[in-house]
Amino acid sequence: MNITQVPSPNFDDRTLPISLLILHYTGMQSGKAALERMCDSEAKVSAHYMVEEDGHVFQLVDEDKRAWHAGVSEWQGESNINSNSIGIEIVNGGHDWPRVDGSLPPFPDVQINAVIALSKDIMKRHSNLTVLGHSDIAPTRKIDPGEHFPWAGLAAAGLGYWPNVSGKDRRILFEPGTRDRGVAILQSGLAHIGYGARVTGVLDEASVKIIEAFQRRYRPDQIDGVVDIHTMEIVKALSESIPNPAEFRPI
Ligand SMILES: [Zn+2]
Repeated sequence: MNITQVPSPNFDDRTLPISLLILHYTGMQSGKAALERMCDSEAKVSAHYMVEEDGHVFQLVDEDKRAWHAGVSEWQGESNINSNSIGIEIVNGGHDWPRVDGSLPPFPDVQINAVIALSKDIMKRHSNLTVLGHSDIAPTRKIDPGEHFPWAGLAAAGLGYWPNVSGKDRRILFEPGTRDRGVAILQSGLAHIGYGARVTGVLDEASVKIIEAFQRRYRPDQIDGVVDIHTMEIVKALSESIPNPAEFRPI
């Protein structure tokens, strides 16, 4: 791969082995602006890589160092995500810089192909990385890389698991605020997948944010925090794809 080195001062030492690959969008007006920010020592943010819209890849931080891209986050009970992950910023204006018609700016194919190639290259050095979006690890704060990010395409290329759930049964199971044993089962499933869900049995505000993050990734046509049968089926399929799904059961 042709990678341009643009060293950022914003990193420190890892304290955990690498197990996650976190994808972001830059959410800025241009890749140049994002690169400048990530190289500004005052900003205290960075990522290991940035992928431009034309597919060009920049490296800002060595993989064995801890880049500062995740912020307050959680996955599989671990909150020091900067220490156990590699972060890729993908140049895209996202929700803050929509197109003139208000729609989200698409990710060009050449850019996504570069993200896939870079990710596969990273995985040659670090096997079995779980591929996540920033919104998966920080659902109350972040919505990148956004519902317009082609997660299904990445999964088809071998990056990340994609649940094959046929049909779209939109009958509602739980609205926000619902207290039900089924909500506890749902929360157990989400926690087993890795989300920072607490098993309270109530579809509380934190749970709604996690559901929205989950929908943004796995069923982007409906992001409302309401749990319908289709959402529940995807949670179940994902939970069962992960070894030892003992937690996803009636309690
Ligand atoms: Zn992000």
